[in-house]
Amino acid sequence: MAQRLDLDGKPIKAITICMIGAGGFIGSHLCEKILHETPHKILALDVYNDKIKHLLEPDSASGTAPFPDRIQFHRLNIKHDSRLEGLIKMSDLTINLAAICTPADYNTRPLDTIYSNFIDALPVVKYCSENGKRLIHFSTCEVYGKTIGSFLPKDSPLRQDPSYYVLKEDTSPCIFGSIEKQRWSYACAKQLIERLIYAEGAENGLEFTIVRPFNWIGPRMDFIPGIDGPSEGVPRVLACFSNALLRREPLKLVDGGQSQRTFIYIKDAIEAVLLMIENPARANGHIFNVGNPNNEVTVRQLAEMMTEVYAKVTGESALEKPTIDVSSKEFYGEGYDDSDKRIPDMTIINKQLGWNPKTSLWDLLESTLTYQHRTYAEAIKKVLAKPTSS
Ligand code: NAD
Ligand code: UDP
Repeated sequence: MAQRLDLDGKPIKAITICMIGAGGFIGSHLCEKILHETPHKILALDVYNDKIKHLLEPDSASGTAPFPDRIQFHRLNIKHDSRLEGLIKMSDLTINLAAICTPADYNTRPLDTIYSNFIDALPVVKYCSENGKRLIHFSTCEVYGKTIGSFLPKDSPLRQDPSYYVLKEDTSPCIFGSIEKQRWSYACAKQLIERLIYAEGAENGLEFTIVRPFNWIGPRMDFIPGIDGPSEGVPRVLACFSNALLRREPLKLVDGGQSQRTFIYIKDAIEAVLLMIENPARANGHIFNVGNPNNEVTVRQLAEMMTEVYAKVTGESALEKPTIDVSSKEFYGEGYDDSDKRIPDMTIINKQLGWNPKTSLWDLLESTLTYQHRTYAEAIKKVLAKPTSS
């Protein structure tokens, strides 16, 4: 492999990375990128490894594992495992991705959500700080909560002014709903761990970078209910809509599908994370929005575009009524609330790392839905063909 240079033209040294939550959606893409394009080694920690099996196990053709000396999987739960500190000590950098991060859990399992996103992350921060190890911690765009603009009267012209809705790391406030809106348990726990990490940096010199992902989507995100996850499970919107398309059922629009999101292709976002890993002097001490401000849609528009793309990918015609409205109470239960709009400001990441997203929403949906169809269509057909027991 040719010598890799950082953004300042200096050679990049090979490092060992302790990646917690490596078996998840983002972790699996990050492991692939690091193994294919860099010399770094990975200690991959997770309770599951299904999404990185292809990187760990011998392939049937050659009989050898693809990266035998570069990735080591440790099946462990960071809630209670004494091996954690040792693995952090063996590494140059820790990346913490572990979390409960599906909205259906925030209001129905608020305790698990708070423990997972705050309490369970505490030892990771402590071990990094005490052992002088660098930490890249995954937070969320949800720490911004609702936009200032959402509190203005519906017809206020200020709603069109970007300063009322664009979310900026160092100036936007974090605006959550009331305590009984338990949706915000996740955002609040993430905000507090961000503040703790920031304080460890300020008081004890912890070298940290905080990442705020804005709806990263792509292959291997979450699960398809009844196929590789629980039948009653509710994943994030990409998997919910994929599941409905695969089953030829209408896509459910929560509260009219009026909320707005910006979606970014996982592969674009992973480029940003690799820049953070390999440019510590430019990334340390920063909080970075990572999203694609050009890919904004309402959830309704997302449903329409996914329906159109799926028809193109499969050659099957769309349903006559492709969407159906459901209330948030019916879909998520008591205590749900929503972020109205999420447009990331890109000034800081642009200045520090020169990074920009590339892939349009249409293109990212085309490659992702091609993957979903190839991976799940046969399995869904079999499930649908089974007679239901009465
Ligand atoms: P994911 O659920 O696919 O991955 C999380 C992984 O962490 C899972 O494999 C899970 O098994 C593991 N994990 C959870 N608790 C653990 C524990 N106690 N011990 C060991 N492993 C544990 O989610 P993801 O989309 O890959 O998200 C990764 C991180 O990015 C999370 O912190 C999430 O809050 C944040 N994030 C992601 C997005 C996005 O768009 N995907 C948006 C905002 C924030
Ligand atoms: N949503 C929806 N139908 C679904 C799943 C989600 O309308 O089947 C909506 C949800 O209410 C939210 C948006 O889609 O407004 C994005 O939801 P997601 O679970 O991906 O996470 P979020 O962006 O809210 O963190």
